Amino acid sequence: MSDESLGDIARVSSVGRRGLLVMLDGEELGAVPAGSLMKDQKPVTGDRVRCVEGDYGRLVVREILPRGRCLFRTVRGGARKIVAANVDRVLIMVSVADPPFVRGVIDRIAVSAEWQGLESCVVLNKVDLAGSEGLPEADLPDYERAGYPVFRTSCVTGEGLDLLANSIEGECVVIAGHSGVGKTSLVRRLAPGCDLRVADVGERSRRGRHTTVATRLVMLGGRTFLVDTPGFRVFSTSHVPREELQECFPEFLPFLGRCRFRGCMHVSEPDCAVKSAVEGGTIPQARYLAYLSLMMDNDDSERDRERG
Ligand code: GDP
Ligand code: ZN
Repeated sequence: MSDESLGDIARVSSVGRRGLLVMLDGEELGAVPAGSLMKDQKPVTGDRVRCVEGDYGRLVVREILPRGRCLFRTVRGGARKIVAANVDRVLIMVSVADPPFVRGVIDRIAVSAEWQGLESCVVLNKVDLAGSEGLPEADLPDYERAGYPVFRTSCVTGEGLDLLANSIEGECVVIAGHSGVGKTSLVRRLAPGCDLRVADVGERSRRGRHTTVATRLVMLGGRTFLVDTPGFRVFSTSHVPREELQECFPEFLPFLGRCRFRGCMHVSEPDCAVKSAVEGGTIPQARYLAYLSLMMDNDDSERDRERG
């Protein structure tokens, strides 16, 4: 399918109020969605789109190609929103200090990634601030044992960045985490040439106008894509159905189907294989508590939706 008349395939790098920016042959250009497109589908960062040249030499997005794996989060009102499309891996970024290390955000983003079959890893940034308290080494092994590689980095000293860059080579990677942990700094360190300010697109111009932006995709050496996302207060995963949450915790998997009751949700049922594994120390207590907390969240959101 390389029929020229259908247009070129570009990749959406950001979506602003008045248009989009797309990567086409290594260049970032302004584009507008065709009127027909907006009715049923809105382009999102990471989308592969087919573009044609319209009036005034403007690029017009004709078609959004079918999406691969996406990272989702739930927004206010309970709707599920795509953070980025066509993603290979999620970098869950936290910091040693400033803002302080919290593990809840790791559990939530990891669940959202697992639900889509996306790989994730943890990036513990600002290791240069470890000081006398040291790194949160008591928490990290839970994630390593669950199969999430942990990278310890500093965007100030450069520690750990080569290792991270090598491991994401050739992938499309979305960076998610609370604001202030260093997501934008990481993108700047890994893709020094990129201009992260470009966002809103002028009506007539094919060049982006310079303002701050929400989600932004940049290219790293031609084969690797990094998506910087805005910080959020809570990364909600209420879109993941309660019955599917258990499958989003890799360390639960060996025990699923081994409880007394079929359909066991591993909360208060007797003879639960998951709870026994928690008691026996095979499943970390904190990860099980994270599961319970997400179960409760998803309950609430269902009620909210019913109330309208
Ligand atoms: P974002 O909101 O996650 O994109 O975070 P930013 O990249 O904007 O960084 C927030 C602040 O943390 C800025 O002042 C950065 O200079 C600082 N920062 C980022 N990475 C590091 C790091 O590894 N060590 C230290 N000490 N500061 C960092
Ligand atoms: Zn059970």
